[in-house]
Amino acid sequence: MDLAKLTWLAGPRWIEIEATALEHNLRAVKGLLQPPTRLLAVIKADAYGTGAVEVARIFLAAGADYLGVTTLAEGQELRQAGIRAPILLMSPLLAEELPQALTNDLTLTISSRSGAEAAAAAAAMVGRQARVHLKVETGLQRTGLEPGEVVPLVREIRCWPGVQLEGIYSHLAEAAHPGAARRQMECFQRVLMELEEQQISLPLKHICNSTGLLLHPAMHLDMVRAGTLLYGQFPYQAPRRGLELKNPWQFKARILFIHDVAAGTPVGYGGDYVVKKATRLAVIPVGYADGFALTPVSRPKDLNDLARHLVKTILAYLGRGVGEGTAVTIAGQRAPVVGRVGMQLSMVDVGHLPEVKVGQEVQLDLRRPTASARLPRVYCREGQPYLVRTTSGEMVPVLSSAGQNLAPGAGI
Ligand SMILES: *Cc1c(COP(=O)(O)O)cnc(C)c1O
Repeated sequence: MDLAKLTWLAGPRWIEIEATALEHNLRAVKGLLQPPTRLLAVIKADAYGTGAVEVARIFLAAGADYLGVTTLAEGQELRQAGIRAPILLMSPLLAEELPQALTNDLTLTISSRSGAEAAAAAAAMVGRQARVHLKVETGLQRTGLEPGEVVPLVREIRCWPGVQLEGIYSHLAEAAHPGAARRQMECFQRVLMELEEQQISLPLKHICNSTGLLLHPAMHLDMVRAGTLLYGQFPYQAPRRGLELKNPWQFKARILFIHDVAAGTPVGYGGDYVVKKATRLAVIPVGYADGFALTPVSRPKDLNDLARHLVKTILAYLGRGVGEGTAVTIAGQRAPVVGRVGMQLSMVDVGHLPEVKVGQEVQLDLRRPTASARLPRVYCREGQPYLVRTTSGEMVPVLSSAGQNLAPGAGI
């Protein structure tokens, strides 16, 4: 498919999502599990930026057993798109949200006795059973029942007709820290043993996220909840277990404008960047409103860290940056972003790339979680686009049969 057609559908910048990479990752992760352990694909936060609806379909077709999201709206979006697989809402809801969660057949997380009572009340109100997983606090200090609360609450809930106890889980705070993770897992297992002693069996017990499932195969239990790995990334410091992951994500834009600038010219807002010798600048339709070049806020950890930071800043001031600035790739060559990144436009120094033309494609680095949801997502299979989620969220199939005009409104 040519760039003009893609631009008609998606505009001059878009994120390409390769379906076969997501399928590969899902199958690879599933291959680490011992049946009947199930795989819950975490698709919160718009499937880590890849686009929840289409990615849910891709993961389900590749063998995901369950889906996980954080908010009611995320669950509703999937149901409205016709996805019928079980979906776990992994956060507590406010009482006002519960009826809608139940009419959408979403599985609730119960983190307190009052939460359980609210779920039962909502179930009675809408005339449906609430399917629930209990969440146990084992060390993250975010949400969950205290371990000692679990057995008494389970014994009560089992007698409530409106509530179906399907599972119990916990979440790791520092899965890569062996001591801390082990303490959390031991705490969770003590709760599971107490339940067993009471002859209470809950079908789905789960604690592992991506790091946990790589580090602790013995704790896969009935289900694991994987996010990071499915999107092609290894968590920091986790073992790889022979897993090979594929990157499904590529951020692209087309050059809008090119102009020459003389030596000594200040470039961009505030004139922060001054061109050293005559060069050419290319303008791309991407800026911080899209999440581009947002660096996470952090604070030096210690004096060494601070010293490193100062050295880098001084080198950058002297024009001897150590290659850490933002750069883009044009026809396989790196080109630095210069001047301040604007809200929606940025400049790239292409003085060393004489062939570069307006309309040419540029590849950019963009951290997935900060990518704006309004950037179009272009879903591809082996590089061939088949579906576009546009800026307004509309899903537009890409018809690729020969001679077909893909321009919206073509033929009117
Ligand atoms: C985000 C999340 C996960 C997935 O974590 P990854 O590290 O991305 O695999 C699992 N469980 C819960 C409750 C989460 O919020």
